[in-house]
Amino acid sequence: MKVAVAYPSSPSIANLSLSFKLIQSRLEEAGFDVDGISMNGVPPKSHKRGAPLSAFDAVIFTLHYELDYINMVKMLAYSKVPAKSSRRSSPFVVVGGPPVMANPEPIADFVDVVTLGDLEAVLPSLIDGLTEGPESLSEVDGFYAPSLGKREVRRVYVRDIRDSPFVVSRVDASLFGSDVMVEAMRGCPHGCLFCLESYMNKPPRFGDLSNAAALVKASGARRVALIGLSVGDHPLLRGFVKELMDAGISVSYPSLRVDTLDCGLIEMIAKSGQRTLTVAPESSERLRRALGKGFSDSDLLEVAKCSFESGMRRIKLYFMVGLPGELDHDLKQVRELSLSVSSLGPVYISVNPWIPKPHTPLQWFPMQRPDELRRRIGVVVKGFGDSSYYDPIHASVQALLSLGDRDVSSFIVDAARVGKDRLDKGDYRRLINSHSDLLEKYVYAARRPGDPLPWSHIKVNDEELLRRLYEQYVEDIQSQQVQLGLE
Ligand code: SF4
Repeated sequence: MKVAVAYPSSPSIANLSLSFKLIQSRLEEAGFDVDGISMNGVPPKSHKRGAPLSAFDAVIFTLHYELDYINMVKMLAYSKVPAKSSRRSSPFVVVGGPPVMANPEPIADFVDVVTLGDLEAVLPSLIDGLTEGPESLSEVDGFYAPSLGKREVRRVYVRDIRDSPFVVSRVDASLFGSDVMVEAMRGCPHGCLFCLESYMNKPPRFGDLSNAAALVKASGARRVALIGLSVGDHPLLRGFVKELMDAGISVSYPSLRVDTLDCGLIEMIAKSGQRTLTVAPESSERLRRALGKGFSDSDLLEVAKCSFESGMRRIKLYFMVGLPGELDHDLKQVRELSLSVSSLGPVYISVNPWIPKPHTPLQWFPMQRPDELRRRIGVVVKGFGDSSYYDPIHASVQALLSLGDRDVSSFIVDAARVGKDRLDKGDYRRLINSHSDLLEKYVYAARRPGDPLPWSHIKVNDEELLRRLYEQYVEDIQSQQVQLGLE
């Protein structure tokens, strides 16, 4: 059987994806005739053999970002393969990845099967299914066949990642700038209320760092990239990093949670070669606390001070605007905090619209409209030299593709028909205007606990817990406003 593993973005981005590479190598080991394919032309051609999508019996799309749904449909259309599954006899289309796991309905019309779970948990069944006939997958745990209707389906996951083949993965150094990736953890123990990654990856699991340093050293790698949502929480992190540093191996870190950092760890991070520390205060201190990030502004300033004293050249701060209950008071506090940090050393701030995500306790709140988001971003970044923001129009489209139901397929088809490799802000604005009914219904309308949601049949979390956390957030925000006289 010929299988294409497809990443609906440019080849350079596809090659940065660990899952894109791992799925190919696992299927090859299982004896399939496999090739990777990405958006490298019209029609797209597979990387090794130059074959179009129509030459394969099955295509597995790995989707990491909602806007890639549009590219997936483009790849099918450019290959003269009917995008709608009801009109297609071949190839069989399988999709997986964090956003589709949370809510597959916006792309339900285009796909035959959706995988819902950790790669290690779904791959054996996927391999069996492809061998026996992919139609059999619709009955298997962790697989969802949208054409059979909205049946209840549970995410499948591995309970322990210590033996995961992904804990230490050799990668192409020229692509990643590191020789080896180490998955230090999956999921996150903190559960900040907006965080899709945390709520889609419960329970939090730690990789086996006691063994990983020896594996890295044996591999001959000189650089290591740590992967994980909050690696500072790993109890063995310091010993692991020290062992690598003693062996002259440099380590790079993802964003770190402020309350997992102290001056000793920051010094260690600086000594291991990292020159920029990235942290995400998200919002003002009061909203941050209500969201589940318990550190204060002064904790952040202490971390910044230690960072610059340890030789870090820059601190990157990530913020969100448009959070439920946010007031201009919060935006001004964010701005003041950024200025305070910048008085200690160079600071870069990145400001992103908050997008409601399925399966999180904030899933019932509406998103702010683009004009209001733009105004709020302006309050934070005005006059701040080193800053960037995620465009509110793009964010609104992302929200629609994240929160919508099957009728959102009309938006995806129209977006795919625009006929450009990359849609720009003007294209998205026109699409939003011509599909304003969908935006009103799924993005700007408040939902209430108990309302049926497009993703209600995808069982991921304890729904009662989400509801309690939502109610607690509403209560916290209201009581803070009363206390601060902000009503
Ligand atoms: S600490 Fe970071 S990764 Fe963990 S739940 Fe909060 S936002 Fe998500």
